[in-house]
Amino acid sequence: MKGSAEVICVGSELLLGDILNTNAQFLAKELAQLGIPHYYQTVVGDNPQRIQQVVKVACERSRLLFFTGGLGPTPDDLTVETLADFFDAPLEERSDVLEDIQQKFARRGREMTPSNRKQALIPKGADVLPNPAGSAPGIIWEPCPGLVLMTFPGVPKEMHIMWQETAVPYLKIHGWSSAPIYSRTLKFWGIGESTLAERVAHLLQLENPTVAPYASQGTVKLRVSAKAATEAEANSLIKPISEEIMKIAGNHYYGTDEDTLESVVGERLREKGQTLSVAESCTGGGLGRMLTAVSGSSDYFMGGIISYDNAVKIGLLGVQPAVLESEGAVSDPVACQMAKGVRSRLGTDWGLSITGIAGPGGGTEEKPVGLVYIGVAGPKGWVESRCYRFGNLRGRDWIRHLSCCSALDLLRLLLKTE
Ligand code: ATP
Ligand code: MG
Repeated sequence: MKGSAEVICVGSELLLGDILNTNAQFLAKELAQLGIPHYYQTVVGDNPQRIQQVVKVACERSRLLFFTGGLGPTPDDLTVETLADFFDAPLEERSDVLEDIQQKFARRGREMTPSNRKQALIPKGADVLPNPAGSAPGIIWEPCPGLVLMTFPGVPKEMHIMWQETAVPYLKIHGWSSAPIYSRTLKFWGIGESTLAERVAHLLQLENPTVAPYASQGTVKLRVSAKAATEAEANSLIKPISEEIMKIAGNHYYGTDEDTLESVVGERLREKGQTLSVAESCTGGGLGRMLTAVSGSSDYFMGGIISYDNAVKIGLLGVQPAVLESEGAVSDPVACQMAKGVRSRLGTDWGLSITGIAGPGGGTEEKPVGLVYIGVAGPKGWVESRCYRFGNLRGRDWIRHLSCCSALDLLRLLLKTE
């Protein structure tokens, strides 16, 4: 282990809030996986003086500096020349790099501009970090003993491939990576982050593996991470703790790592050889979009009806006008009739429906924004609906998102028993 790393993202658009710094997130996760300590991240605009100030500070406290952004051909892309200037190294045009850039342009049938030549300039003593996905290569450079710099383009797709193909092997071979950290992320729905954290409070104190709670998009997650020499050893540390967590969380636990509510529901339907259709009002197709985001979902998902207007609820789903009149579109019987209607119309085992008030307008005291009914019609013809009150604190998109996820979660639970 040679010391800690620092991530420096260059780009004025990051400071302006125009783009989200996903490169820093990516590198942070990767460094954790490699067991490389990482204590600082900096964002700096496309300004040579300020970049140099950042480099000056970073060299004093870190041994491995990762730069993203500013490798392009335009005058505001000045990461490499600024670094060369800082470490007092001349820039040299590398003929192999120039040739590579020329070939890439020729293959795409595009004219190479003089400004692209700039991308073949590499500080004396630095190695090229090849970019198979774009024109600008990065560099790997040890400008003074014990300090290593790597530069990557800002474009995430290019950065990721360069990281995987060249940077990771380099870091492993040169002994920067310590015993790696292996982790498993357990996912939960229908329970708050603090409630779950309280229930597993005794596990949050552990040191190896560690258990860390976090939440995104309504899913609560617990990441169980172990430091171990081998994956098998890590798994033997992670397994008993994961099992204990699953026992504590009961039905709230829905999946691990890459699992999503829609993939888990899909798996269960496939296993049972059953099919699903959906009728959506306030989510306008969002549930269908989530289900079809899983590749192979045509095995079990037949389709859906976006019954936004009452006429569609009546005409295509067979919802009774009198019930719409007396109960309103956002009601238990309408959710049930929508689920039943789509199930029979599309000839599926399951029918799932959503009707609600996503706001911001349209709420009343009796039926406020955030009130959502989710209906399910099941294999033996039974039908039921659940009422959810999501409130109006986080807006329309959030209510629609929670509605889709809650519908999937309801079906997930029913698939366990039916
Ligand atoms: P280019 O050759 O495209 O100019 P570059 O290496 O000079 O590449 P930038 O100009 O800094 O990179 O950024 C190019 C694009 O990459 C940005 O417009 C943005 O979409 C994306 N990008 C840059 N930095 C980041 C970052 N830290 N996180 C996520 N995306 C980023
Ligand atoms: Mg650029």
